[in-house]
Amino acid sequence: MLIDSHCHLHDPAFGDVRDTLRTALAFDVYGVVAVGCDPATNIQTIVATTAAPRGVWGCLGLHPDWTHLTDEDLDIVEEQLRAHHPRIVGLGEVGLPWYSLTDAPDAAGLMARGHERLERLLALAARYDLAVALHAPHGAAVGAFEALKRHGIERAVFHWHKAPAEVTRAIVDAGFLVSVTPEVVYRDRDRELVEQVPIESLLVESDGPWKYAGEFAALGTSGPWLVARVAEEVAKIKRLPIEETMVQLSENTCRLFELIWA
Ligand SMILES: [Zn+2]
Repeated sequence: MLIDSHCHLHDPAFGDVRDTLRTALAFDVYGVVAVGCDPATNIQTIVATTAAPRGVWGCLGLHPDWTHLTDEDLDIVEEQLRAHHPRIVGLGEVGLPWYSLTDAPDAAGLMARGHERLERLLALAARYDLAVALHAPHGAAVGAFEALKRHGIERAVFHWHKAPAEVTRAIVDAGFLVSVTPEVVYRDRDRELVEQVPIESLLVESDGPWKYAGEFAALGTSGPWLVARVAEEVAKIKRLPIEETMVQLSENTCRLFELIWA
């Protein structure tokens, strides 16, 4: 039995949460950590957790690469965190911008704004003892790592992690986790990451409804069920039995988000 550690259940691709969970269960995936990206999707995430309280755990966030989000949106997300923190397991998805910097007229300004926002959000995660689901790919990873340490945050995952090996080593040595998506099935970079990182520091995620290439190209949108395939590939790369791999990955997810499961 597995948990998808990062999925956008708020997306219209997932019409009915309970239908989504039923499909996932057929693939041995019994639960989903659902992340939000802005005030509206945070509300939808809370709604998903109430629709299926035993199968969905919520995180509220402000996506760092959604550059249209305003300072008012940040204020609202902070209010949402104050109001809902007893009902959620994490802050996310939050982090630092990266992909949006490419075509930005003022990339340095965008990054500075991203740092300010992350500082404010991490302060709330520390206050309410929430795990943190980070979007901090490539050159954003070091900045996010340093921000976590500044706030004394001990529970965090670098979702769909991509960074130089020495940065990954520092992240894992500090006790943080990194997660891999279905890309691990067909992309060398992700396979090398799995080889490098101890299984105790790994999570699996769909980042659904993201569309993947390789053997998944014909499937269209992804969903929580795909983490079963991710776990199978992790087991192969680690040369571990699949059952043992699934148990360890589930334990890692429960440890990070302090999930109770029987
Ligand atoms: Zn995501």
